[in-house]
Formats: sequence, structure tokens, C-alpha cells
Amino acid sequence: MKSTNRTPVIAANWKMHKTIEEAVCFVKGLIPLILNVPVKVYVAPPYTALHSSAVAARNSPVVIGGQNMNDENEGAFTGEISANMLKDAGAEFVILGHSERRHLFNETNDFIRRKVKKALSKKLQPLLCIGETKQEREEEKTEQILKQQLEESLGDISPEEMETIILAYEPVWAIGTGSPALPKEVQVIHHFCRQLVRQKWGADTAEKVIIQYGGSVHPQDVKELMELPDVDGVLVGGASLTLDLFNQIIHYSR
Ligand code: PEP
Repeated sequence: MKSTNRTPVIAANWKMHKTIEEAVCFVKGLIPLILNVPVKVYVAPPYTALHSSAVAARNSPVVIGGQNMNDENEGAFTGEISANMLKDAGAEFVILGHSERRHLFNETNDFIRRKVKKALSKKLQPLLCIGETKQEREEEKTEQILKQQLEESLGDISPEEMETIILAYEPVWAIGTGSPALPKEVQVIHHFCRQLVRQKWGADTAEKVIIQYGGSVHPQDVKELMELPDVDGVLVGGASLTLDLFNQIIHYSR
């Protein structure tokens, strides 16, 4: 048993998948399955299905969020979406700094930091992803990269703000590969991240902050990961697209 007061968060990142109808059907199917679980359940649908998913999730334990956002309130930014728009559509959290945004769309730590600040100012909970690439891992730069991403993406936020943030350690080399990182390695990295939080924001904040693992999480791996002392949840891509698999992940302790 883990000795922590942190309530784990299990989150689905649907990326560019699901129509409105598919998203609503999933959310409606998920609600009765999770009424008594000891974890929080978050779902990030594509923008087009955000509002209808939020309506379907109203008065239920399912928390709906966005997959990204811009740091500006409004303006000539074709294709972008603001914090206000996400909130208006019913989002309560937002994934920021996902490795696909960092690597496919060249998002920098500086840009991500501005988004984190904006999300906090709009009371949208940031779910900040950090993680090293395969090459960085092979060059033994994992800790250096994570420290840099964490410090530069969070900047000078207060301990109170830091406590509301969810961190997701997502090694880029594990995402979408079918092979998650080894639990032993995950614990070492999560402990390292919590130490970084402790050094900058203090012991109380470090004890409260949620640190998820993400990268090819499937039902067969989740129990071992969730039992690690510094793992407070998982961020799930591929396996969150199927209700049965996502439900098995949420009920990992059964
Ligand atoms: C992700 O992209 O956040 C992710 C964890 O994906 P997958 O579970 O498919 O590796």
C-alpha cells in the first residue's frame, strides 16, 4: 500500500480521434463505470467534441479538458484556441507541452510557460507533460532535460499554483510504441521530479503535486506503475480510445 494523501488522476488523451457522436457515446458509457472509483478520471477529447462531451459529463465524475491552447486571449491566430474558449466549451483542465506539440509543432519551453501562466490565470488546470527523447536518454541527458523542461515551462509560479498543476512524465521513446518504461526507471524519474519540485516550491507542495506516468500504458502494466510510491496516475493515449481498455486501466486495483 502507498502512504500518500494524493488522489490519483487517470487521464485520457484522445489526440485527433473520435467524432462528436463517438465521444459522447464514450463519455455516457464511462460515467456509470466510475461512480465509486478512488481515482479522478479526466478525458481530453478533440476540440470539436469538447462541448458535447462536457455536456454529457455534466454532474458526473468525468472531468473534461482540452489537448492544447494558445497563450493569447484572442486575435489573428488562425487555427488556435484560447483558454476562454476552452472554458466556454466546458473544459476544466488543459494538456500543455505534450511531446507531439513539442516535437511535431516545435513548441518551446518559453511558449509552454506562457500557456501555463495563462491557464492558471483563467482557472484552467494545467496538465504539463515533460519527457526526454530516445537520443537524449541514450546520451544520459534525461535528468538535465527534465530539469530544464520543468524549470523553463513553469517559471516563477507560486507554490499554491504549483499544487494545482498535474505533471506527466512521458518519455518520448515510450509514447505509442507499445512498450512502457520499466517501473523501476519510472520510480527513479518520478522521485527526481518530486525532488525538483521540493527544491523550488517546498516540501508541502512536493507532497501534494500529482505526477502521472504516460507512454504506452495498457491494462497489463498499470497496476505495477500505480503502486510505485511517486506515481499518482497515468496519462493514456492509445488505450484510452476503447472504453473497455480505459475502464480496465481505471479499475487497475481489481
Ligand atoms: C500520450 O500521447 O500522451 C500517450 C501516453 O500515448 P500512448 O498511451 O498511446 O503511448
